[in-house]
Amino acid sequence: MSSTHFDTIVAPITGNQQAAVAWVRISGEDAWEIASKVFGNWPNEPETHKAIFGVYSHGDSGLALPFAENHSYTGEQSVELSIHGSTTSSRALVELCCQQGARLAEPGEFTLRAFLNGRLDLTQAEAVRDTVDAQTEIQLRAANLNRKGVLRKQVSSIRDAVLKVLVQVEASVDFSEEIGELDHEAASVHVQEIINQIDRLLATAHAGRIIRDGFRVAIVGPPNAGKSSLLNALLGEDRSIVTDVPGTTRDYVEERLEVNGLPIVLIDTAGIRPTEDVVETIGIQRTRAIAANADAIWYLYDAQIDLKQTDLDALESFDRPVTILANKTDLTSSNRGTPISALTGQGLGELLRSLTSEIEAAPGQPLINMRHQPLLAQARASLQECLVSINNHAPDDLLSVLLSDAAHHLGAITGETATPDMIDRIFHDFCVGK
Ligand code: GDP
Repeated sequence: MSSTHFDTIVAPITGNQQAAVAWVRISGEDAWEIASKVFGNWPNEPETHKAIFGVYSHGDSGLALPFAENHSYTGEQSVELSIHGSTTSSRALVELCCQQGARLAEPGEFTLRAFLNGRLDLTQAEAVRDTVDAQTEIQLRAANLNRKGVLRKQVSSIRDAVLKVLVQVEASVDFSEEIGELDHEAASVHVQEIINQIDRLLATAHAGRIIRDGFRVAIVGPPNAGKSSLLNALLGEDRSIVTDVPGTTRDYVEERLEVNGLPIVLIDTAGIRPTEDVVETIGIQRTRAIAANADAIWYLYDAQIDLKQTDLDALESFDRPVTILANKTDLTSSNRGTPISALTGQGLGELLRSLTSEIEAAPGQPLINMRHQPLLAQARASLQECLVSINNHAPDDLLSVLLSDAAHHLGAITGETATPDMIDRIFHDFCVGK
């Protein structure tokens, strides 16, 4: 299959930071032609994937690496040109290529072309972005899996299974005399199996979100319990305000750290206590809102003071389990909650380990993202309705509509049935050169 022909584009692909080496990519049907004009040593018959050393028209030198059509990242004829990594040299080379007929690539345009040329599907394109953005080991591992196409295969095979049932339904509508009635029992079993597979994917949404955006821990509790000290101790630096005057963390401080490869977001909130102070009241309302959106809540109290009635009231006001932490146990012992000391660090390692054990994703399982989740949920809803309709012996025409809907939503995940708008939105998030 030959790639679709678009105009020729160029961009630096190694960012705009100064570095020892930088690369510029040209892609499109005139890529080699343009390279031959800006690169002194371009061979008469370039071989794909074989680098040549030479000097560019602007005086810098480096390697030219040709890729033949269908053997490149974009699927188009391309060249990657290495230069010394000064932003001036890279700008000059891009400018030279533009003078020879190339156009500066839009953000994500190389990957968009790879998608349009069938080199990768939308889940893999998203995984390219996630690989570039990966800041923790686990984010990288998850991105690698989807880039390899593990999610693509699972979604495609679910969609194929839907289409198979659809074909049977349509055949029984169109050729009922030749092939007989639809086997409702078998169809119902198949649809249920497909729903189960979708459920397994949907169950990864939580882990997917946490691995991408971080596990959010809200640190709440009365003023002066040591919330800011705990945050600083876990981060190993002084970022939150620590004072002896109750009520100093009026707003909230959000910090990220990585534990066992997982991103954790710690949120130091305003202290919870009844107050007349307007600013503090707003802070406390926010604290409740933050706690409501967090993945875990740590309720920290001062072990010297013990839990008071206001603490018990606050604890009751959260609608889910809260981990109670007794702080300052370097000064006194406690018999309620997990004993820790933000000052000496006692109990903190164990605290972080207990968090990450909650978040382990099954190895090898691809994770879905916030775009995939509603599409899978819509496909599931259509299939569920289809299942009920089969069991109620609804007309086959209706089954066919519901199965087509499900196939359509699944196809939007991988790209076959994605609207131009959806595709635009995905590539909009990419950086120039990707
Ligand atoms: P917050 O209002 O809950 O954020 O409390 P801070 O972090 O500002 O701490 C209040 C006071 O308690 C400060 O003087 C801290 O130095 C002290 N403090 C915090 N944690 C500990 C601890 O584990 N042991 C001891 N001895 N003092 C602590």
